[in-house]
Amino acid sequence: AALYKIDGWGAPYFSVNSSGNVSARPYGTDTLPHQEIDLLKIVKRVSDPKWAGGLGLQLPLIVRLPDVLKNRLESLQSAFDFAIQSQAYEAHYQGVYPVKCNQDRFVVEDIVRFGSPFRFGLEAGSKPELLLAMNCLCKGNPEALLICNGFKDVEYISLALIARKLSLKTVIVLEQEEEIDLVIEMSKKMSVRPVVGVRAKLRTKHSGHFGSTSGEKGKFGLTTTQILRVVKKLEQAGMLDCFQLLHFHIGSQIPSTALLSDGASEAAQIYCELVRLGARMQVIDIGGGLGIDYDGSKSGDSDLSVAYGLEEYALAVVQAVKFVCDRKNVKHPVICSESGRAIVSHHSILIFEAMSSSSTSANAASMTSYEMQYYLSRLTEDARADYRNLTASVIRGEHEACLLYADQLKQSCVDQFKEGNIGMEQLAAVDALCELFYKTFGASDPVRTYHVNLSLFTSIPDFWGIGQLFPIVPIHRLDQRPSARGILSDLTCDSDGKIDKFIGGESSLPLHEIEGGGAGGNGGKYYLGMFLGGAYEEALGGIHNLFGGPSVVRVSQSDGPYSFSVTQAVSGPSCGDVLRVMQYEPELMFETLKHRVEEYCHHDEDSDDSDGDHRMGSIATVANCLASYFHNMPYLVA
Ligand code: PLP
Repeated sequence: AALYKIDGWGAPYFSVNSSGNVSARPYGTDTLPHQEIDLLKIVKRVSDPKWAGGLGLQLPLIVRLPDVLKNRLESLQSAFDFAIQSQAYEAHYQGVYPVKCNQDRFVVEDIVRFGSPFRFGLEAGSKPELLLAMNCLCKGNPEALLICNGFKDVEYISLALIARKLSLKTVIVLEQEEEIDLVIEMSKKMSVRPVVGVRAKLRTKHSGHFGSTSGEKGKFGLTTTQILRVVKKLEQAGMLDCFQLLHFHIGSQIPSTALLSDGASEAAQIYCELVRLGARMQVIDIGGGLGIDYDGSKSGDSDLSVAYGLEEYALAVVQAVKFVCDRKNVKHPVICSESGRAIVSHHSILIFEAMSSSSTSANAASMTSYEMQYYLSRLTEDARADYRNLTASVIRGEHEACLLYADQLKQSCVDQFKEGNIGMEQLAAVDALCELFYKTFGASDPVRTYHVNLSLFTSIPDFWGIGQLFPIVPIHRLDQRPSARGILSDLTCDSDGKIDKFIGGESSLPLHEIEGGGAGGNGGKYYLGMFLGGAYEEALGGIHNLFGGPSVVRVSQSDGPYSFSVTQAVSGPSCGDVLRVMQYEPELMFETLKHRVEEYCHHDEDSDDSDGDHRMGSIATVANCLASYFHNMPYLVA
């Protein structure tokens, strides 16, 4: 456990049990010994061909632990409750989960269910995400917030207004100034009074990888000048009372509470100014950024580590907001956060199998010293000169010269081989000889390649895409000291399909020998787990924010009125298509929302829909509009 720093990154959810296996502690510190779950036992159980009437699953396997999700949510809520109480803050905390972090149906449904006692809501950043959030929140706490972030077109805004009509506590958070014109126009057309928020572009900048969208030049949010223009537009439209929320997000993995306090103070100042300007402000939404200590160092000195826990995070926010509001005599706002990574990272573990290992030091063993001598004596004259230099430097005990001559001998023999002057056996003999020297002088590379049965691009895309590291640990045999070091190579035929960077700046991982069949009681199998990957990993493999793939056309040159003809066209996925990927059933979702329409829209039966635009009053109109989102609405913002 110490070798892999499990206590650092894994506490309080993972530890090593008396059998030497990693066990999960589903209720964190409240877990009793008999409640611990041995990960190896899960693997053995579900991969048994006889399990569940012949369902026997193959690896790789994602093990989800909903109890861990529940514990994370409750811990976050308690941290804020405690900070609020200890600081005599006069409003409550009410979080939302950003579904982009992991849109899996069961994850989102669990979060809504577990968070219902404390009004936990959802955040969406695209139309399909909004559809799924609406659907899930129909079964949630009626007070839960539904925060609509992301770039918005007419359809996105209409859908958010429908959500409001269905009595979901929907807030349209403006990310671009132009969105306010659409919101004013559409809300009038649809006769819905919206609740509007603004994402502020703060000057506070987070300098890590995930902070590149923060600061004055950040990609998202409105500048102070733009926020002032939004206030004016809402005022002119008689809708300033609709402006109720201020949002900011300074980036994921905020490294320190000092930076967080800085951001929260700046945002609280803007919040107080908006109150002064007449907006009916209620909520300050501090975005995501609550970090995970992937390397267990608690140092906060890289993207892999944060120097605080949930309690310190909550306290920093509450203190900063309270201080600013008290000075300006402004009523304390409800504090909302959009923590994703911190809620879902721990709850899922990717387990895969190392099937074999290979080492570059496989040469020596396959040749006897007699054979080696025989082939070496038949080298070309040039190579024999290098060989003589090598043996002389060995006799003189000159280590450095010896390694140099070994390299030279190797290179000259490769050149000779390419010329066709020496045979394969001679080349193999030289490799074996040099390896012997490398080993003798401690210069051999003992790192092996362990072949693992997964595709890195599908299962750990963050590693490949942005160099994100996760703790990777054998889930068993931790009572034995690993005798080798290895890198992991996946099964794809792509040279990038390997993991050769690990937590702690290591370029290889301590690993055990893969035992022969039957040894160790595990049938010679060697299982590894990748931990803390419950956030972003599963969604990044091509469907970030549920923006599916593009449409495709085949275009050939032709001599008609255009210089080309389109010979084939395949449309990109609809919202329904991408939702299906995340295990939702669009038909059922539509039924749920239709019931909600029947429940909440019946008073408007007689409203006018004669001009066929987005004016929505009758049950049929709203239901038809919703149906179009599932079936033919393209996923992209127009
Ligand atoms: N809110 C917004 C607007 C985001 O862009 C993100 C992701 O970066 C989050 C919330 C979630 O952040 P985290 O996973 O760091 O909590």
